[in-house]
Formats: sequence, C-alpha cells, structure tokens
Amino acid sequence: MKNPTTVFRKLFSIFASWLHFLIQGNNQLGFKSNPHRLPPRASTLASIEINWLKTCSIQGIILDLDNTIVSEDDQYLSPCAEDWITQAKLAGLQFFILSNGKRRYRVKYWSHRLDIPALSPAKKPFPPAFQQAIAYMQLPAKRILVIGDSLHTDFVGALLSGCSYIQVASLPHPPRWWEKLAGRWVQISYPSGGELWDFDSAAGYESFF
Ligand SMILES: [Mg+2]
Repeated sequence: MKNPTTVFRKLFSIFASWLHFLIQGNNQLGFKSNPHRLPPRASTLASIEINWLKTCSIQGIILDLDNTIVSEDDQYLSPCAEDWITQAKLAGLQFFILSNGKRRYRVKYWSHRLDIPALSPAKKPFPPAFQQAIAYMQLPAKRILVIGDSLHTDFVGALLSGCSYIQVASLPHPPRWWEKLAGRWVQISYPSGGELWDFDSAAGYESFF
C-alpha cells in the first residue's frame, strides 16, 4: 500500500498541473478581440508592467496580502510594491485586498497604509468575497486582475469569478505543514538572491489591535 504522503503529493501535482493549464487559458478569456496577453506569472508585484495591464484592458486589481505584499511572518516586504500601487492608482486602476489571514489587525493596518479597501478572512477561493470586491469596483469581472502567490486560493478564486490572474513568487516565510508537502506545486519560490525589503511590524500594528 502506498504511503499517504506520496498519494497526497501525487494528487496535488495533478491538481497543480491542471491549474497551470487553466491559467494559460483563463488569461485569454475576455481578451479574444485583443491581441495582447497577460503574463501568467511574475517574480514580484513591482515587476508587472502597469502599461501592459492597461493595454490588456485591466481596470481593477484584487490583491492578495500574505506573501504577496508582506511575508506571513512580517519579516519582508515585496520591494517597491507600495510605489507600484501608487503608480497603478495614478494610471486609473482600482484596488481591493482579499486576505485569508485571520489576524484582522494586520489586514486593517495594510488597508489603511495602502489606502485600499480590504476584506478578511476572505475564504478564498470561494467566490463570495471576490463577488463583493467586484461589486465594490463596479467593473466587469473580465476587466479585473487577481494578483497573488497561491494557485489554490488566488487563482481558483479568480477562475471561479471570471477574473484574470497573475501569480507572483511567494515572499520567503516559514513553511506551513502543507507547504512542506505540496507548496512547490501551487506557489513559486522567491528568486534566490532576489531583493527583499525588511519590515518592522512593531512600528505599525499596535494601533490596529
Ligand atoms: Mg498569499
């Protein structure tokens, strides 16, 4: 009889292969009359070209928080992410944060700091939170891009909601049990030697408890 861990890994790899296949197709949905295509993945948020998003008719962005903007353990910030968000806002893009994080003070803090409405715990990939974000932005789902680090939450949610998706590399963080087993199938490792910015949560979270 096969080891349950091996079976779990095998099932997860099949699931992830299916997700990777779907990403390619999903980013083309809604853009059939547009020759431009969104990239399926990027190393960091700030490496995504804002002008390209505009070219691809994107008008709104649903952002993940943990390991996309700030690492789960509050050690690292995604380099230049805040500047990128400011530039994207100036280019006319709307934002909404959906976080599965249960520590609401963190989400409140980041919502305030980035001046972006947020919802948590969003219970991604289930659609209700995505639908709430889409309704808030008052945009067609096909004009909204989800950016996050995890296929099984961010991408599946985007897929179920009719949005496009770009996967960013996960900021370094202590792996959870399931990430040790199957993280590599649903997340991209942060580039070794890639730039990282330190973050001091003690300086900011206190007033949001
Ligand atoms: Mg995440």
